[in-house]
Amino acid sequence: QWGALRASLCETIGENNYKAWIEPLEFDGLEDGVATFGAPTNFVGNYVSQNFGDVMLYHMNAISGNVRRLNFRVSRHANDPGEPTTPSTFSPTRKSAMPQPSTDTSDLLPGAPLDPRFRFDSFVVGKPNELAHAAARRVAEGGPVTFNPLFLHGGVGLGKTHLMHAIAWELKQKSPELNVLYLSAEQFMYRFVQALRDRRMMDFKSIFRSVDVLMVDDVQFISGKDSTQEEFFHTFNALVDQNKQIIISADRAPDEIKDLENRIRSRLQSGLVVDLHPTDYELRLGILQTKVEQQRSHYPDVQIEDGVLEFLAHRISSNVRVLEGALTRLFAFSSLTGRRVEMDLTHECLTDVLRASERKVSVEEIQRKVAEHFNIRLSDMIGPRRTRTFARPRQVAMYLAKKLTSRSLPEIGRRFGGRDHTTVMHGVKRIDELIRTDGQLADDIEMLRRALEG
Ligand code: ADP
Ligand code: MG
Repeated sequence: QWGALRASLCETIGENNYKAWIEPLEFDGLEDGVATFGAPTNFVGNYVSQNFGDVMLYHMNAISGNVRRLNFRVSRHANDPGEPTTPSTFSPTRKSAMPQPSTDTSDLLPGAPLDPRFRFDSFVVGKPNELAHAAARRVAEGGPVTFNPLFLHGGVGLGKTHLMHAIAWELKQKSPELNVLYLSAEQFMYRFVQALRDRRMMDFKSIFRSVDVLMVDDVQFISGKDSTQEEFFHTFNALVDQNKQIIISADRAPDEIKDLENRIRSRLQSGLVVDLHPTDYELRLGILQTKVEQQRSHYPDVQIEDGVLEFLAHRISSNVRVLEGALTRLFAFSSLTGRRVEMDLTHECLTDVLRASERKVSVEEIQRKVAEHFNIRLSDMIGPRRTRTFARPRQVAMYLAKKLTSRSLPEIGRRFGGRDHTTVMHGVKRIDELIRTDGQLADDIEMLRRALEG
């Protein structure tokens, strides 16, 4: 595989570059989506990562898919590349040598590579994400800075990283001279801590203060990390002062991130804050259709029956990543077995995924349904009144909450107007007893259970 990569790289970046930079690398292997290379020096590792990282990632993905990151470490046998690095070549002098600082030079590199698949043309736009998409597009036009920062937030797998990479790709393509830096808040922190440790704060500051566009992904990660926040704040201000674009993402809105200094919070809110809403059925179906077209090139023979995509869009609502995974598995399964993708095969192949995404019932839903069934008001279900008319439905709802959700007794109690967990326990017990003797109540509960579990 390394051989195939060499050939395509040589073609893309030219023979000279190839000889100078890529030839000296050793390919260590691929694990968990991270491909590791040995480089003769820090400098070579840095240079390759910065200049050819994208291209390498791209070609590696074309060959084996699923490569998400490149790591460069310094080869132990820099002067002796012919010698294989096996533990047996460790000499006693080496053992007694001073412990080396981390040889993973990628940690010193400022940015993370961009995923070649995350582009605007592969991003499906629907109601839940149209605003975020439009804002991202606007920023990617690169004109005068209007929204600064652009703050994208939303749950896991809704496309935040995809949009950020798409902006970066677009800007790089339009203005190759722009210094676009993308990294996660975690990487920012890691690099900051490392710079402190290695007494390289000047380098750190100058790198981060000299970018044209800074993108920090998953910024909720810096909550509670005070010195990192401080440094982030200074970086942020320095860039805004120079009128440089900043793009931030988080899994929640700025005012919901805990343990964040107020001045940072208000800085994060000072531009445009847009959220990606949970996907709806139409968007999920659209994404599936797009992904099917993309998979076509890899699996030209796979046939998908009508109704399968609709079924998946209906059933898997958790997050887009799960949806994609399901589709990938279907394609692989179908091409290996030569079977058409129809409903039976879908159920067979995705049993675990479908089970995991079974509709989750919330305590609130249970309360609403039960209140409706017994003809009382929701406020009385939660409120303090203890007459039988309200107490019994309340106990039924507690019982169902215990049986149908994974909430603990105290959590359930809290949702019933702050009741104690012993009250909940008592309610659940009481209904358990009653069901055995009261046929009418047993029927009611069975009916409610079915209605709730859909
Ligand atoms: P987040 O960063 O919000 O957790 P990602 O950007 O990593 O989510 O998206 C998860 C996966 O779902 C990625 O493979 C991404 O390409 C895909 N995805 C999410 N939203 C869309 C969309 N609207 N169109 C196409 N693919 C999407
Ligand atoms: Mg992400």
